[in-house]
Formats: sequence, C-alpha cells, structure tokens
Amino acid sequence: MANKTKYFIGNWKMFGVPKSINILNKINSFYSRDKNKKKYKIVFTPPFTLIETFSKQFLNKKISIGAQNCFEKDPFSSDTAAVSPYMLKKVGAKYVIIGHSDNRSQGDTNTMLKHKVKFALRNKLKIIFCIGENNVQKKNKKTLAILRNQLFKVLEKKYDSRNIIIAYEPIWSIGTGHLPSEKELVLVINYIRQVLKKIFGKNIPPILYGGSVDKISINFFKNIGLIDGFLIGGASKSSKNFIDIIKNFYK
Ligand code: PEP
Repeated sequence: MANKTKYFIGNWKMFGVPKSINILNKINSFYSRDKNKKKYKIVFTPPFTLIETFSKQFLNKKISIGAQNCFEKDPFSSDTAAVSPYMLKKVGAKYVIIGHSDNRSQGDTNTMLKHKVKFALRNKLKIIFCIGENNVQKKNKKTLAILRNQLFKVLEKKYDSRNIIIAYEPIWSIGTGHLPSEKELVLVINYIRQVLKKIFGKNIPPILYGGSVDKISINFFKNIGLIDGFLIGGASKSSKNFIDIIKNFYK
C-alpha cells in the first residue's frame, strides 16, 4: 500500500476565469521539476466554463482536468442548465466529482447519484465519489452507518474499480479548519475499505481524504498511510498553497 500512487485533487468550486489557468501553469512547472513526481497525480476540477480550454491546454501535460458534478441524464435532455457526462467527455474532462456534500445538500439523492455514476462511467470518465457525515450524524455516532449507506446505495459490483476514487469528506471539516483525530480517521478509512471490499472484492479503489487540507494540516495527514490522497478545496485556488501541500507531504 505504501507505494501506491497518491492523488492531489484541487476542487475550485465557484472560482476561476480563463486567466486562472496561470495557477495551473505554475503547478505544472513545479510538477515537471519535482523529484517526487512519479509518486503522485494531480487533478483539477475547475467550473464547467473552463473545462474545455483547460483540458486542451493540459492535454499532453500531467495535470488532468475534471468536472465538479454532472447531470443524471445522458447524453441530452430538456433540463435547463444541466450538463451530462457525455458533454463533459466531449470537451475533454477525464474525471468527475459525484456526490459532493454541497450537491447532496442541494438535493442530490442516492438514486440521482447512482444515475450520475452509471452515465459517467459509461462515458469513460473516472469518478471521484464523495461520502461523509455531518456534525449531527457524527455526534449521534452514525458515521459508519451513513458511509455504508452512501457507498452501498450507489456503487455497483459490476463497475471497474480502477475508474473509481472515493473521497471521504466529513462535512463538518469542509472549510472549517476542524480535523478528525488520527484514531477517528484510521477507524473510518478502515471501515470504508471493508465496505468497498464487500462491493469490489480485492480491487479496492483509492480512498482520499478531504476537509481543511492545507500546507499545515498536511503534516498531520501525511503520517496516516491509509490515505491515498487528498481532495483540496480552498487551498487549491493558489498555486503556492497547493504546491506547498505537495512539498510538505514529501518532506
Ligand atoms: C471540499 O469542498 O471538497 C473541500 C475539501 O474543501 P476545503 O479543502 O476548503 O475544506
């Protein structure tokens, strides 16, 4: 497990205009010089408006571009403002985040997520499937039951787990600076592994952590070998912050 490729995934949320590509250019030039570059992969999910230009720009480079969400129908429909997995694939996206807590809180149900996953995989997009409990669920000791439900209700045994990445994002940690303890994290990630093993057998997809990862907190997370990488929100909007996370991880 120790030598598995790590992922550093930057989720820009509602951030970025065309010239923000400079942020990725700086990260790309850091990556090209980094002696540790073989050990990790970088993915960025800019807003829909930037996917096509960024994908073209980074086509032959090491940063992969993905989307932050997709619609649950494919390829076309009459739903205003919806963007399907097929449409994302056609503009060059390689990955798509599905089930982010922002979208779950806006109404994404397990049934909708199941369709999103199915169509995304059918279009040969790799999925970054987010799961996580909220504060109340954590206080009521429901974390494991919630995670189990989120995984079992959406993922299917027939899927090729090489196209799936799981991101464990405790909602109470997103953008708050609150971090789980090492003990909590190890317990939860081991549990997620067990559930994934039940679904996929021995080919367990990578399990990332997301929630207040920055250049300081990475010093804590980097010692937890079970984590296969990070989904990074706020700290991915600055090339320096993002690069510092990678530098500190390998320090
Ligand atoms: C996120 O929104 O997925 C996230 C992890 O945000 P942040 O890193 O800002 O906590």
